[in-house]
Amino acid sequence: MYDVYSVREDFPVLKEVVYLDSAATTQTPVQAVSAMEDYFFKYAGNHGRGAHRLARQTTDHYEDARENVASFLNIDHQKTIFTKNTTESINMVAHGLEWNSGDHIVTTLIEHHSNFLPWMRLREQGVEVTIIGPNEYGMIDPNYIENAMTDKTRLVAVNHVSNVFGSIQDVARIVKIAHKGGAQVLIDGAQSAGHMFLDVGALDCDFFATAGHKGLLGPQGTGVLYVKEPDMLAPTFVGGGTVHAVTTTGFELEPSPARFEAGTPNIPGVIGLGRAVEYVQELGTADIERHETTLAKDAARRLAEMDAVEVYGPQDRAGVVPFNVVGLNAHDVAMILDETKKICVRSGHHCAMPSIRFLNVEGTVRASFGLYNTQEEVDLFVDSVSQITSLVA
Ligand code: PMP
Repeated sequence: MYDVYSVREDFPVLKEVVYLDSAATTQTPVQAVSAMEDYFFKYAGNHGRGAHRLARQTTDHYEDARENVASFLNIDHQKTIFTKNTTESINMVAHGLEWNSGDHIVTTLIEHHSNFLPWMRLREQGVEVTIIGPNEYGMIDPNYIENAMTDKTRLVAVNHVSNVFGSIQDVARIVKIAHKGGAQVLIDGAQSAGHMFLDVGALDCDFFATAGHKGLLGPQGTGVLYVKEPDMLAPTFVGGGTVHAVTTTGFELEPSPARFEAGTPNIPGVIGLGRAVEYVQELGTADIERHETTLAKDAARRLAEMDAVEVYGPQDRAGVVPFNVVGLNAHDVAMILDETKKICVRSGHHCAMPSIRFLNVEGTVRASFGLYNTQEEVDLFVDSVSQITSLVA
């Protein structure tokens, strides 16, 4: 039985506010913060460099974190690369693949800018980008991707869960379609990892990018990139830690993952992430998913019943509930929720302007749910929105 009240004990800030902005970043459990404190106070050193005990202990803990993340996602630890966020992970793929003029990429209109701009920029190198539109609920029809593919298509880049709609894409089918057409697939899992059952290994995608600071409950400044065939990707950054032989005429790169992690990484962050992932795994993603989506669906249904509220996204949604109060600016609604009830929601374009334009609005209010939210918080949130609607009645 999932006990949200005991989970909440691990997130002290939740005693102060109603936090409904987990799609932007999640709170971090005390267990992960305490693992980071241990690093600073008991054994801080640099990773992979030096023979002394602190450097060795640091390296062991950092690599244990990699094992945790790899086993959680069911991927090979040597193909599990730590980055600073999802954005860096995706940019490393855009930079690291070799592109030729005429190459073709298929992506969608409902990507976060982080999974959109890196591909748009490749147009400067003669790469063609086709952008598939969603249906009105933010669902991508995989058949449209299949129809858009040509013999030049090298990559299909899609989100798993939209941060604007909360829609869940059929990524398993998209991977099959892309592979059948001879293209690689990048999945932007920023909104899925940790929030739902996920087996990246079985999914068989070529690249999986995600954040450490969202569903995985790690600290900000952490991200993950899975690369199925690391030898096909050139490292974006080179320097310390990435090479095993350097002369004045050349250098030999280390194997993955070291070749992709240039310089001193975010060691405390990764160690905190490793512990946070363990925490998620102990609770179980099936229960987390059930908990978060039950709250989100209840909130969405009750908001949709209000005359002055428009709710976006499909009924069968992840823990993301975007809406507008007709006649009010999204930022004003978010501000009132905070000022009157300490309810923290996001408002604006959510770094996905093409999606917002598609909805034909200036922005949305977004309530997003985490494993620590309660039904009482949903009730308070729904009642508060209802009171706000009376301002425009
Ligand atoms: N993709 C999606 C779907 C997202 O929701 C986000 C964060 N809102 C990102 C990418 C960017 O993530 P990060 O901040 O970790 O770079």
